[in-house]
Amino acid sequence: MVSGPAREGHERHEGHDERRKEGRDQGHDEQRDEGHDEGHDERRGKDRPGPEHPPRILIVGGGYVGMYAALRLQRKLRRGEAQVMVVDPEPYMTYQPFLPEAAAGSISPRHVVVPLRRTLDKCEVVIGEAVAISHAKRTATIKTLATKEEGTGAVHISYDELILAPGSISRTLPVPGLAEYGIGFKTVEEAIGLRNHVLEQLDIASSTRDPDVRDAALTFVFVGGGYAGVEALAELEDMARYASRYYHNLQPDDLKFILVEASGRILPEVGEEMGRYAIRELRGRNIDVRLETRLQSCENRVAVLSDGARFPTRTVVWTTGVKPHPVLAATDLPLDQRGRLKCTAALRVDGVEHAWAAGDAAAVPDLTADEPGKECAPNAQHAVRQAKVLARNVLASLRGDGLEDYKHKYVGSVASLGFHKGVAHVYGKKLKGYPAWFMHRAYHLSRVPTFNRKARVLSEWILSGLFKREIVSLGSLENPRAEFELAADTGRHPEAS
Ligand SMILES: Cc1cc2nc3c(=O)[nH]c(=O)nc-3n(C[C@H](O)[C@H](O)[C@H](O)COP(=O)(O)OP(=O)(O)OC[C@H]3O[C@@H](n4cnc5c(N)ncnc54)[C@H](O)[C@@H]3O)c2cc1C
Repeated sequence: MVSGPAREGHERHEGHDERRKEGRDQGHDEQRDEGHDEGHDERRGKDRPGPEHPPRILIVGGGYVGMYAALRLQRKLRRGEAQVMVVDPEPYMTYQPFLPEAAAGSISPRHVVVPLRRTLDKCEVVIGEAVAISHAKRTATIKTLATKEEGTGAVHISYDELILAPGSISRTLPVPGLAEYGIGFKTVEEAIGLRNHVLEQLDIASSTRDPDVRDAALTFVFVGGGYAGVEALAELEDMARYASRYYHNLQPDDLKFILVEASGRILPEVGEEMGRYAIRELRGRNIDVRLETRLQSCENRVAVLSDGARFPTRTVVWTTGVKPHPVLAATDLPLDQRGRLKCTAALRVDGVEHAWAAGDAAAVPDLTADEPGKECAPNAQHAVRQAKVLARNVLASLRGDGLEDYKHKYVGSVASLGFHKGVAHVYGKKLKGYPAWFMHRAYHLSRVPTFNRKARVLSEWILSGLFKREIVSLGSLENPRAEFELAADTGRHPEAS
């Protein structure tokens, strides 16, 4: 069985007139030549216009750029003007700035994600992963859960306009032991996994008689001083020291948190002065902030730093920035030396018709920069705004109108440093402590998509102000069959992480 979209598309066009049939057959022949023999979708070229065949806009990635662009397109497209298909391996968009709060337990994991099917109710949502794109043939190769289950490999989805927005992945370095022991912090699964892991370490430390095991369990190393690393560290430290009160044999000061940063500053997004304040705030909480220091190895669960320090630890969180998604290299589109799609200020892939990109995956010229040749930084502030301009330009291009250039001056940033603590530098205004934390929450509440999410997040914050924090680890959720395997006497005993 061929999965969803290709098959649906195929069936929808059965029995149409000869001209369309010819077009479809042509498309199939081209694909067969390449050895693609499963899950074909019909070509949707501009040579086959008509009300039954509106052009297809394929959006790869349903994150900030993909979801916001699709949202705008579904609102603005006239009936029959175009069909929008969104492909993402997950059925939701993740509001990444809320991941640190999700890790701390202040927001439930399901409230930091936005369901694509409900939000994009006029789009066709396909849960799958683009593995290759031939823009010359206007075809994307997609693996879905069904194709994996069926063992058929992939489906080939054709399109007329492509919006490529798969974002980025964690940038790693060849540090010995990192691949085995490192934990990333980019997805909701990683954030919740890390929360459970940290709480589990308190349980290990509390129940062991071995001082080495206890020390390693209570030592948490975070590598990377950007907003993802600092916010994750600050929120988790706050939560873990609070949780330690409920252990009869742990004291908050028994926990050792270390922040390792290769440059001489942290949180460059909030400027130098606020970055220095953040260091003072973290050090004041007994967090060991090590600047101009690198992680050299974490083999055998020992973090070795470039300043000679060695920390036996069961937790190394790696947040040293991002690199463009590897699927970009599996396309025939032009990339820059860092592997991002080369784009014009109008968010079109440079020199290519009908291909568009924005966000972390795209190198977009920053027209507001003082020096020429600068590109927009990979952050949500640009991604959301670019998505809106991109959608407007795709519509303009379909309608034969002129394109608009993307131009936005970075307005600064806000960062949470734990409950009631924060730092902000926005529109030239610098804030710290409670006002910055409040601003952080107010800003992100105004930004998180849909009224539904805003209401749910706000009610969670209100409730968490009234009641004590949740401090339970649900790590066993990662192994839901363990209990039944015991009952069925399979002899398999899943190992603790
Ligand atoms: C912890 C954390 C905190 C952050 N905080 C802030 C902040 O406070 N302020 C700020 O401005 N920025 C922040 N950012 C950065 C911001 O979230 C990103 O810059 C933004 O998400 C980029 O948007 P995007 O659409 O390019 O990528 P994403 O939002 O990452 O979306 C990419 C989408 O593509 C999908 N995808 C991946 N591969 C494929 C594939 N092969 N086929 C189909 N789909 C695919 C993914 O599942 C994902 O849904 C933070 C990031 C993190 C990790």
